Amino acid sequence: MTPQFGFTTWGADIVRLAEPVTASTPNTSAPRARSIARNGGVTLEIDGRQITARIHRGGEASIAHLEIAAMEPPVMAALREELGSRTEPDDAVHAALRARGLRPAATLEAADCSCRARTTMCVHVLAALYALAERVDHSPSTVLGMQAGVDGSDDAAANGPPPRWTPIAALDVRDYFTVRD
Ligand SMILES: [Zn+2]
Repeated sequence: MTPQFGFTTWGADIVRLAEPVTASTPNTSAPRARSIARNGGVTLEIDGRQITARIHRGGEASIAHLEIAAMEPPVMAALREELGSRTEPDDAVHAALRARGLRPAATLEAADCSCRARTTMCVHVLAALYALAERVDHSPSTVLGMQAGVDGSDDAAANGPPPRWTPIAALDVRDYFTVRD
């Protein structure tokens, strides 16, 4: 049976943020979070690396924020090579990157939630991750837009030269991922 979330390798990388292989015990909120995501209880807003998720459960609404780390420049460069003329990175592209010793998996830089749970990985953050995994499964290029760091935030200015990336929405995705030499 195909798993509900993470049936592509790109989506599975996002599921792994909710279910890290290093966790000694499974997060007890995970089944509830999966059910919220499956039942359309999460509204995602993706703005570069910043993701805002509105989670509705019963009469309650919580807002979770996730921040995805920028993809390492060598990984992004290799990704554009492997993509060639394709617009969506498929499992083969993911495998090709892994074969080159690269780690294309998304990582979380930050996560928080408006609820009062004392854990970072509350049910809402988890539900947001499952909803994101579903989005990525159906449109793997989502993860590229996120990891390209097209967030227009100040940290790029603080940490070095301005990013070379043009906001992805401004470009045809086909041009964006074409290798230029
Ligand atoms: Zn929460």
